[in-house]
Amino acid sequence: MSLSSGFVSLNPNESSRIAYFSMEIAVAPHMPTYSGGLGVLAGDTLRSAADMGLPLAAVTLAHRKGYFRQHLDKDGVQTEEPQPWKIEEKLTPEKPVVTITLEEREVALRAWRYDLIGVSGHRIPIYFLDTDLQQNDPADRTLTDQLYGGDGDYRLRQEIVLGMGGVRFLDALGYRATVYHMNEGHAALLTLALMEDQMNGAPLSSAKEANAAAVRQHCVFTTHTPVPAGHDRFSLEQANRILGRDRLAFLERNGCIHEGLLNMTYVALSFSRFVNGVAMQHGKVSRSMFPEYNISAITNGVHAATWTSAAFQNIFDRHMPRWRQDNVTLRYAIDIPEEEIESAHAAAKQLLVDAVAQRTGVALRTDVFTIGFARRAATYKRADLLFTDPERLVRCAHEHGGLQILYSGKAHPADEPGKAKIRHVIELAKKLNSDALHIVYLENYEWTLGALLTGGVDVWLNTPKRPYEASGTSGMKAALNGVPSLSILDGWWIEGWIEGVTGWAIEDHEDEAAEANSLYEHLEHVLLPLFYEQPQQWRRIMRSTIALNGSFFNTQRMLEQYVVNAYFPEQRVTEPAAEPEPALAR
Ligand SMILES: *Cc1c(COP(=O)(O)O)cnc(C)c1O
Repeated sequence: MSLSSGFVSLNPNESSRIAYFSMEIAVAPHMPTYSGGLGVLAGDTLRSAADMGLPLAAVTLAHRKGYFRQHLDKDGVQTEEPQPWKIEEKLTPEKPVVTITLEEREVALRAWRYDLIGVSGHRIPIYFLDTDLQQNDPADRTLTDQLYGGDGDYRLRQEIVLGMGGVRFLDALGYRATVYHMNEGHAALLTLALMEDQMNGAPLSSAKEANAAAVRQHCVFTTHTPVPAGHDRFSLEQANRILGRDRLAFLERNGCIHEGLLNMTYVALSFSRFVNGVAMQHGKVSRSMFPEYNISAITNGVHAATWTSAAFQNIFDRHMPRWRQDNVTLRYAIDIPEEEIESAHAAAKQLLVDAVAQRTGVALRTDVFTIGFARRAATYKRADLLFTDPERLVRCAHEHGGLQILYSGKAHPADEPGKAKIRHVIELAKKLNSDALHIVYLENYEWTLGALLTGGVDVWLNTPKRPYEASGTSGMKAALNGVPSLSILDGWWIEGWIEGVTGWAIEDHEDEAAEANSLYEHLEHVLLPLFYEQPQQWRRIMRSTIALNGSFFNTQRMLEQYVVNAYFPEQRVTEPAAEPEPALAR
């Protein structure tokens, strides 16, 4: 049973509405309003909210200059180019103009709307806040231009626009939310706007604990990474200058200053009634990072229909006709005949091989085992673990029937070590390429390329350093396409892994070389022999990957958990169990 059909009875109160705030949202393939996983997750969440008919509206920034387009030269040196886009052509302007104060001056903002439409026609509006108005200072007019660009001052101003401006804008629109969901700490300052509303014009210095408790009743916070750089921090000087003395003093009194810095994660933690990490293990890691807070876990997912290749969509439509409305029916993929799995995958692989040829001129083969690795080029993701012993990799390709490896991923413009990882992979690719081994690095990883890769390769590789992968979602996209994972046991894979049924685990060691050894052993002794010598067995693994992981690691299941545990826990149909939910307490 899907909650989508039961939602109305769960939530009879018309005024129960959700406002979802995210610095980035991947809305459509050709709108450069996201940088990577966080934005794709936000977009997938909203697509499922539309499918389920949830009463929800989303807020983000216009990002007129777009996130950057990546170019790689022949040595793997990354250069970045802005991707301005015509928001006027894609979005509809909304009437209200609201003002916020920062640095003791007023900044006006308005918004543009985009409606995501669900399978049954329900609309989820997304409001793109925009400060490019004539009455603003020239510098303030650029505040909503660049996603993750500029310096710390710019970022703090953007977060004021997103959080405080977003609350003011929804108010002006007459959208009264009962739940505010902060997708990562970037949106934490929305709590400050709600607090100012509570005070009704009285100074924050006179706020009582009851006022903070009232704000907390409305707020839900999802933290997304154990990597310290992923948690926004600002100096007290900056915060004092940009937010103002009263606001800073209020945040200070409420435990938001940490190690001498204003920490947006603590802002969100302090003013939320429900906080969660994005996989069971990430919940644990987050509890150890923030022991004074009660932190749950809701494991991420992906929007099933968005990330399933056209060929598999056709098969699912025939075998499980309601899978788009009710993702859990993907469980019945277990009955799809193996030949159909094989032909759908062959079609997706052909599309990928064609795209590689078109983009790079490299002719790959559809009958050769193909590994995919694509994600942000952050150092902890260790794109080059597979090259720990290059000779062994070459030997493995020669002795077992051939190997193709496809890479892709952008490094943040300021991330020099991440850029070095890209150069390293490309350098080795040039050195090692032969008849039996082809390594290709595809430039400018984004939505379309992500879909081609996760749909068309034979295995999805992930080699993060534990425990830094909070969840990871690209392996979930692969699973929907019958592509098993070969991965370090971190993030979602701890939950999705059944050895030899949904993929394989790379053994966890302190020593990187030992982890690489486990990776090679899997390729040499398990994956390559299985793929080339037992194709029927391989297809059964593909099928169980869809049935077990496609049916669970989707944003519909994820949102159902948010509804029941985070958004409207008090409106449960059944009495809450006396014991904490095992899945949440684990
Ligand atoms: C899915 C996706 C991501 C996130 O992948 P992870 O496995 O979470 O690293 C990043 N970028 C793009 C373009 C994606 O489609």
